[in-house]
Formats: sequence, structure tokens, C-alpha cells
Amino acid sequence: MAFFRRNRQAATQTPPAPTSSAIGNGATLVASSAPTAPPIFAATMMDYPLTIQHIMERAKRYFPNRELVTLLAEGTERTTYGAMFPRVERLAAGLAKLGIKKGDRVATLAWNNTRHFELYFAIPCMGAVLHTLNLRLPAEQLGFIISDAADSIIFVDADLLPLLEKVQASLGSVRQIVVMNGSAMTSAPNMPQVLDYEQFIADAPATFAWPTLDERDAVAMCYTSGTTGNPKGVVYSHRSAFLHAISVTQADTIALSGNDVALPIVPMFHVNAWGLPHAAAMVGSKIVFPNKYMDPNRIAQVMHDEKVTFAGGVPTIWIGLLQVIAKRNDLDLSSVTRLVCGGSAAPRSLIEGLDHFNLPIIHAWGMTETSPIGTVARLKSNLQGLPYQEQLNYRAKQGMPVALVDLRITDIDTGKELPWDGVAFGEVQVRGPWITGSYYHDTNPADKFVDGWFRTGDVATIDPEGYIEIVDRTKDVIKSGGEWISSVQLESIIMGHPKVLEAAVVALPHPKWQERPVAVVVPKADTTVTPEEIQEYLQTRVAKWWLPDKIIIGMPIPKTSVGKFDKKVLRAQLAQEVKLGE
Ligand code: AMP
Repeated sequence: MAFFRRNRQAATQTPPAPTSSAIGNGATLVASSAPTAPPIFAATMMDYPLTIQHIMERAKRYFPNRELVTLLAEGTERTTYGAMFPRVERLAAGLAKLGIKKGDRVATLAWNNTRHFELYFAIPCMGAVLHTLNLRLPAEQLGFIISDAADSIIFVDADLLPLLEKVQASLGSVRQIVVMNGSAMTSAPNMPQVLDYEQFIADAPATFAWPTLDERDAVAMCYTSGTTGNPKGVVYSHRSAFLHAISVTQADTIALSGNDVALPIVPMFHVNAWGLPHAAAMVGSKIVFPNKYMDPNRIAQVMHDEKVTFAGGVPTIWIGLLQVIAKRNDLDLSSVTRLVCGGSAAPRSLIEGLDHFNLPIIHAWGMTETSPIGTVARLKSNLQGLPYQEQLNYRAKQGMPVALVDLRITDIDTGKELPWDGVAFGEVQVRGPWITGSYYHDTNPADKFVDGWFRTGDVATIDPEGYIEIVDRTKDVIKSGGEWISSVQLESIIMGHPKVLEAAVVALPHPKWQERPVAVVVPKADTTVTPEEIQEYLQTRVAKWWLPDKIIIGMPIPKTSVGKFDKKVLRAQLAQEVKLGE
């Protein structure tokens, strides 16, 4: 019913004039997000709602025997889509019995496991909103997020219950805590009632009348990492999640298919695990959930044991994997056809290193606000005949926008659109059906949107082929004597040194040049490297004025809650210890 209502509304509105903008290659785009006028010659297609309920029904009917595997401390827990969906129905019925209504936020604080996957469908398909909580956040941010979203129920993995006890003062809206994957009761005073997940399912009615949902209803919400100020909520719709899931299955993006055995290492609390749970259920991939066992040896072993074909994770995971497979020769990873790497820049040396073991990386870019897939670095047909090193030039970039995402770069100071010459760099701006149009509780922050485009805060170049290369966050670029230096490029080059495991580069204040780069370098295990060796390596690879003023060896690089270099913390640490130009 709901979509008929929307059509009538659209028909009575006067459409705003379409906005257009010249894009970097000279073409002109017409913004398509505004409601359209009634068509002159009406199409006859159904206005079928794009909801996650369709994905659930499809997986239930067509892929009942496809396996779902979760790693345990020892061994695995195994089930199937067919065995899972009756439990999903009971979960939905149990939520309704507790009085959960359409639009209520129901949170999860959990690792990547099958029970979490059950909630990915039970909560939104019964009309509530899945709010995935980041288990690595500091207590004050976790508490802020729970009360900002006004979560009414929290499903928590047993070993994470202590995190909720720490933030009990922020649990005012929470009526119930449901503990999964182990039994745990709380001894903390004034905690909401705690139930056991399996008991919750057993006590719930076996059937549930799924409601009719509108595709614009909220499906899930995530909060941004909040590098400055409090994290902001991004609310995804059924429509955006559905379209994004289709995108993940496209042959020229990630190509997730029913033949895949998928290993989502990216946490299920981080931007919907990059949409992999929705896409996998849509096409019937077998899924192997790593749970909390993300040590590279275990990851490599499970890839071998389960014949994984596809896995997704941040560069740190793949750097660890590369180290393991370089040492072990008892693993057969020939089933793997691709590894998707995103979240931060994949160093060229990492891509090259994994190619050596026939483990091709597909580099992708996105963010919480973009659901997340924005660009994917697959080689276009005209680039496939290039020599290997030239191909790497493209594969190490973040790639082309996927279909339905528009992308441009604009000058950081003037806001003017920049050419696609691979040299000019500016802020990346995007728009599309799975790009956020506002924030929860902050519907129109003026600094985040311009003319219908979302301002990402990332700085990039676009080359004539349309591939973007992220050079920095706007807050991380180094401005030295009026010239820009890319910290991301410097890091990527330093990580190409054979003795280096990780490198982070930040700007520190300089009395003469305003800012200069400082690098922190972590050598590989059982290796030492000196600042002089790094300087010598860089001398032939970057312009002289890009050479870091200081190279610090062996200091641990702080990481964010999702495993990226935390440059804000690193800058603060170094500002205490390093004074440049003295
Ligand atoms: P988050 O919202 O936590 O997923 O963080 C999104 C940010 O991560 C982006 O705005 C980028 O700064 C960074 N990021 C994501 N993918 C990449 C990538 N492939 N290369 C470089 N930076 C990336």
C-alpha cells in the first residue's frame, strides 16, 4: 500500500527544476534525486518495493541447503540458510511480543557470527531498525551512541556484556538485553533485564505476519567514527541497502555470487560489513563468519579448510595474511579468486606481494555515509593489455565509481570543479541512491552537502580513465611552504620497503614551512631498519621536499576502532615529543 501512497504524493508535487553540473570530463549530468513530474507516456512496470524482506524470502526458498559457518575457539559451528530462517521468524515474533514497533531501534553489540546474521534480517524485516554498535569504541562514545539512537533492546555477545556494564548510565532507553553465544548474567546494579538468546527464540511464537514495508523505511543505522566531535548517525533505507547489495554482485565490482564461499572479515558493525551479508543472502553464497578469531594464522587456515573463494577486510588483515603465507607452505589457497581491500589505502607493495601468491586484491573505497561501496579498482578492458607494472598503477588506485554513484573532485579552497587529469587534487564529492542525504539528529549540516552532493572530506585525483586516487583526508594533507604533500602516498611508498611492516605519516608544525611530514615506521618481525635506510629508499622515489623531516622507528602506530591508522592520536602523541626546526 505504502508505495501507491508515495506515487500519489509525487503526482501532486510541482517538481523542482533539475540541477545540472559539468563534470570533469566535459559531460553534463542532471541530478536525478528530485521527485519527477507525472510521465507524459506512462510506463507499465510495477512499482515493486525494494526491501530486505525480498532478500530474506529469496534465500529461504532458493538456498536452504547453503551453509553458514561460524568459527569457535576450537572448530566451527555450522548451520544453513534453511535452518536459520525459522529462527529469524521467531526472533521477529519475539521482538513484536516485547512491543517493538516499526522504526524502533534494536541494537547489536556482536562479532561476526551466524546469530548476528539472523538479526540482520529479523530486526529490519519486522520493521525495526538494526543499529550495529562498534565494540571497539571507548565507553563514552558507546554510551553516547546508545542514548542518541535511543536503542530499546540490545543483543550482545556474552563476552561483550562487560562493555554494556561500563555504560549502564547511558542505557536509559534500553528495556532488555539479550545475550548471545554463551550464557552470561550481569552482577552490575541497575542494568536492564537480561535474557538468553536461545530462550528468547524458544519462547517466541513460531510464526509471524511480516508487515508490508515501504522501500524508504529505515533498515539500519551506523555511526561515523567521529574523529572530531561526537559520532553522527547514518540511517540506511531498505531501498539503499537493496540497491547496494545488487551492486556488490555486479561482475565488474565485487562479483559476489552463489558460487562463492565468502569470508567477511570486515566487522558486521562497520558499515553493514560492506553490504556483504545482504548481497550473500541475495545470491546464496556460503558464508564463513570469523567471529572474533581474526589472527592471520587462523584466517589463513580457515581459508584453506573451507575453500574460501572471496574475503573482505582492511589492509592490516591482508598485511598479516601475507606474512603468514610467506612462511607456511602447508596451505592451499587456490580456491581464493579475489580479496577485497578497503577502509584505508592498499599499499602497492601489498597488492604485488599477494599477486605473487595468486591472491589478487581488488581495491575499493567507501565510507559509512556511502553504505559503503563508492569506487572499485577493476581494470577496464582497455587497460588489461598493459604491462604488469602499469596495470598496478591503476589497481593501486581506489578505482572508478560503481554504477549509480556520481563522483567529482572540487578545489579545496575555491570549491570549483577540477579536471580529470590525474594531477589536480581536490575534495571528493559523491551522490547516488545509497549515499546519505543527511545525518540523524542533524539533517542539514551545511558543511557536509553542496548542491545535492555529499562532501566526503577525502582528497583525491581523477585520471583520464576515471580512476580516483585518494591522497588524504582534508584534515590530514600536509601543507609545506604552500605546497601539498600526500601522507597516504608517502606511507604507501615507505611500506614498499622490504623491511617495513607499517608506516604512518602525519604533519607536524614547522616554524618556517608551516607543516612538515614526520613518519613512524614499524619494521617486520625479526627485522631492524634505520631512518637512514628509509631516507635513502625515498630519495629516488619522491620529490626532495616530500622527504620526512623525521623518521621514528619502532613506535607502535595507534589504530582506530576499525583498524585504521589513528592519525589524530598519532599527531597528538608526536606533538608532545617532536619539535621540528629546532
Ligand atoms: P569509515 O566511515 O569509518 O568507513 O571511514 C571512511 C574513510 O576511510 C574514507 O572517507 C577514507 O578516508 C577512508 N578509506 C576508505 N577506503 C579507502 C581506500 N581504499 N583508500 C584510502 N582511504 C580509504
